[in-house]
Amino acid sequence: MLGAGTMGSRIAAHFANAGVSSLLLDITREAAMKGLDGAAKSKPPAFLTSSGIGLVQTGSFDERIADIVACDWVLEAVTENLDIKRDLWRRVDQHARPDAILSTNTSGIPLHRIVEGFSEAFRQRFLGVHFFNPPRYLHLVEIIPGQDTDRDLIGFVSQFCDERLGKGVVICKDTPNFIGNRIGCFFGGTIVRIAMEEGFTVEEVDAFTGPLIGLPNSATFRLLDIVGLDIWSHVGKNLYEMAPHDPWRERFLLPTPIEEMIGRGWIGEKSGQGFYRRVGKGIEALDLKTFEYRPAVAVDTDRYRKISNLTERIHALVNSGDRTGLFVWRVLRDVMIYSAAMIPEITDRVVDIDRAMKWGYAHTLGPFELWDALGFEATARRMESEGLTLPPLVTGMLRDGKTSFYQDISTEDRPGIITLSTLKRSNGVVKSNAGASLIDLGDGVLCVEFHSKMNVLSEDIFAIIEAGLDETAANGEALVIANQGMDFSVGADLVLICRFAQDGDWNQMETTIHRFQQFNMGIKCAMKPVVAAPFGRVLGGGAEVAMHALRRQASAELYMGLVETAVGLIPAGGGCKEMLIRVSDPKVLFEQIGMAQTSSSADDARRLKYLSECDRVSMNGERLVADAKRLALSLAPGYVPVLPREDILVSGSGGLALMNLGAWMGRQGGFLSEHDELVGQKLAGVLSGGRLSGEHRVSEQYLLDLEREAFLSLCGHPKTLARIQHTLKTGKPLRN
Ligand code: NAD
Repeated sequence: MLGAGTMGSRIAAHFANAGVSSLLLDITREAAMKGLDGAAKSKPPAFLTSSGIGLVQTGSFDERIADIVACDWVLEAVTENLDIKRDLWRRVDQHARPDAILSTNTSGIPLHRIVEGFSEAFRQRFLGVHFFNPPRYLHLVEIIPGQDTDRDLIGFVSQFCDERLGKGVVICKDTPNFIGNRIGCFFGGTIVRIAMEEGFTVEEVDAFTGPLIGLPNSATFRLLDIVGLDIWSHVGKNLYEMAPHDPWRERFLLPTPIEEMIGRGWIGEKSGQGFYRRVGKGIEALDLKTFEYRPAVAVDTDRYRKISNLTERIHALVNSGDRTGLFVWRVLRDVMIYSAAMIPEITDRVVDIDRAMKWGYAHTLGPFELWDALGFEATARRMESEGLTLPPLVTGMLRDGKTSFYQDISTEDRPGIITLSTLKRSNGVVKSNAGASLIDLGDGVLCVEFHSKMNVLSEDIFAIIEAGLDETAANGEALVIANQGMDFSVGADLVLICRFAQDGDWNQMETTIHRFQQFNMGIKCAMKPVVAAPFGRVLGGGAEVAMHALRRQASAELYMGLVETAVGLIPAGGGCKEMLIRVSDPKVLFEQIGMAQTSSSADDARRLKYLSECDRVSMNGERLVADAKRLALSLAPGYVPVLPREDILVSGSGGLALMNLGAWMGRQGGFLSEHDELVGQKLAGVLSGGRLSGEHRVSEQYLLDLEREAFLSLCGHPKTLARIQHTLKTGKPLRN
C-alpha cells in the first residue's frame, strides 16, 4: 500500500479485516506509522478487531521499496498529483513482481495519463481500484480498466473486492471522476446553486436534502463542512477543467459566496467553522447573505415526515407546489436528467449509476430508481414542459413505449447473490403476514424473512417460523432465517412487554415468553438443519433466535449481544441457557450478560461465544443469504436432529455466591445502582442453576423455567418499567 494517508491507511486496515497482510509505505517510516495509528484510532473504527493492526507492516519508500517484490498487489493512494503518482510508479516498476497487480486509488486523474510511456506489460496489469471513504463502511469500489488492462485481471480483482473485501463493485469507464464522484459532484453543486438562487437558509437546505428524501443525515452543508470546502472547490475545479464538453459543468464550480468563505478560511470542521460552528454547547449556522453566524433553527418538516414511505414522501414533496417542494423537485429533476445524459459516456448501464450513488454516497434510491418511482413518463413530460431537453436515452425509451428504466434489465447480474425482494416479486411467497414471510430459496431451502419495524420479534414472526419449521420438516431440506433489512433484529417487542406489565397481565406475559422459548427450542431441535444469517444489530431476543440455530452464517459487520439487563431484565428466550452451554466460567458469563456486552464484529462475536468455531462469516453482506443457503444445504445430507440436553453443568451455590459477590462489589464500588444489583442477583440465580447445593447437571427446560421466572419477577419492578419506557422513548438505556 503506497501512501499512508486517509485512504492508504484505511484501505490497508480493510485488507487486514479480510485477513490479508500488507506493507504500508510512505515518505518516511514515521509518516507510515502515523497513518496506521490514525487508522487504529479512527471513529468509526477502521479495523474490525484490534488484532488486525498486526497484519500491517510499515516503512518508508526509500527503506523498503525493494520489499515490494514479495507483494501480490501494489495499491497506490498518494497525493492526488499526476507527477507524484507517475514518479512513484516508475520506482515501483523496477521492483514489483512481473505478475503483480498494480492499481491506483485516484479519484479523478485519468488512468491513461498515469500509465503514459509505461511498458505494455505494466499497462496490462494496471487498473484503477477506487475505494470510497471510509473504505470499511462505504460499500462501493469502482474498478476502472485501462485500455490495455488484461480482461482476466479485471475479473479477478472484481471478484476479490466483492467476495474477500465485501465490496459492491461497479466497473467504470476512464472518464473524469468516474461514476460516483461525477454524479455526486453534480448533485452537491446543484443543491448549493439552486439553494442560493432561491434564498434558502443553510438549515432549510439540510432539512430537505437529508433522510427526508432518502439521502444521509449529513445532508448537504453538514457534509460540505465534513469534507472541507477547500477540497470540494478543488475537486469541482478539476472536474470543470477535465469535462470541457459537459454542458452542465458550471455546476461543479462553487458559487461566489462560498469561494468567499474559503477566502476567509471558513472551510468547515477542520478550521472550526464553515456553514456551521459550535459555540459552547450550541450550534450556529451561517447566514449566507450577511456572512454572520446565528443560532441554528429547527426547520419544520412534519407535514412530510409523517409520510413513512419514502417514495410516497418524495412524491408528495415534488408535487406539493410549495417553495420547498419546488426546490426539491428542481434538484432531483436536474440530477435525474443529468444522470440520463451521462449514459453512455460514463457507463452503458443505468444500474451502475444507481449502485454507485447507493453504495458510495449512501443514497436510498439511485437517480433512475427515483425516476421510476415518480413515474417514468409523467416525470419526463414534466421536465419537457419546463423547457428541459430530454437526453437521447429518455427520448428513445419514450419512443419505444418503455415505462421503466429497469423494464428489460435483470439486476441479478451477480452470481451468488440472492435479493429477497426480487425473489418474492418473481416467485411469490409460501406464506406471509405483516411481520415476516416464508420464501422458497430453491433446492429445498426455505427462508424465514423478518420484516417488522426494526425486525422486532412478534407473534407474526413466531407464526412464520412455525410454518417454516413444519414446511421444511415435511417437504424441504433446510431452513434459513435471514433478512435484508437494516438489522437482523433488535429483539423482543418492548411495547408489548410494557403493556402487559402496566396491565398486570402476568398470565399473558408468561404465555408469550413460554411460546418464545418453545419456538427457539423448535429451531434448535428441528427435523432439518436451520441456519441463521445474523448481521448488523442482533440484540436480545434476536440474538437468542440466532443462537438456537444449528449454525450461523454471519456478516463480518455483526453487533450481537444479550442486552436485556440494560432495560432491567434478563435474557429469557433461552439466552442464559445457551451461554451456559458455551461458557463454563461463571464469572465471565455473569459479566458478559450482566454488562450487556455486544460484539463489535463477527470475530468479536466469536470471542464472546455468540458465534461458534463452526460458524461462518461473509465479508459481503449482500452474499449472506446465498452463503447461508449453501451452508444449510451442506448440512442436510443424513442430518440427525439435535435432542434437548439434560447435562448442562451449573455451578450451584458456589457460583451463586461468587456472582452475588460480584454484583455487591459493583454496587459498593459505585459502578452499579441498587436496581442493577437486583438484576444481577436475578441473573446469578439463573446462571448458577438456582438454589442447588453444588455443581449439578440440569436440563435445558429446567434453565428455561428459571429464566422465565426471573424475567417475570423483574417485569413487575417499577424501575424496570421505567427503563423500558425510557428506552422506547429515547432509544437509549436509563441507569436508575
Ligand atoms: P492524504 O493526503 O491523506 O494522503 C496522501 C499521502 O501521500 C500522504 O501520506 C503523503 O505523505 C503521501 N505523499 C505526499 N507526497 C508524496 C510524494 N511526493 N511521494 C509519495 N507520497 C507522497 O490523501 P488521501 O485522502 O488519502 O488520498 C489519497 C488518494 O486517494 C488520492 O489520489 C485521492 O484522490 C484518493 N481518494 C481520496 C478519498 C478521500 O475521501 N480522501 C477518497 C477516494 C480516493
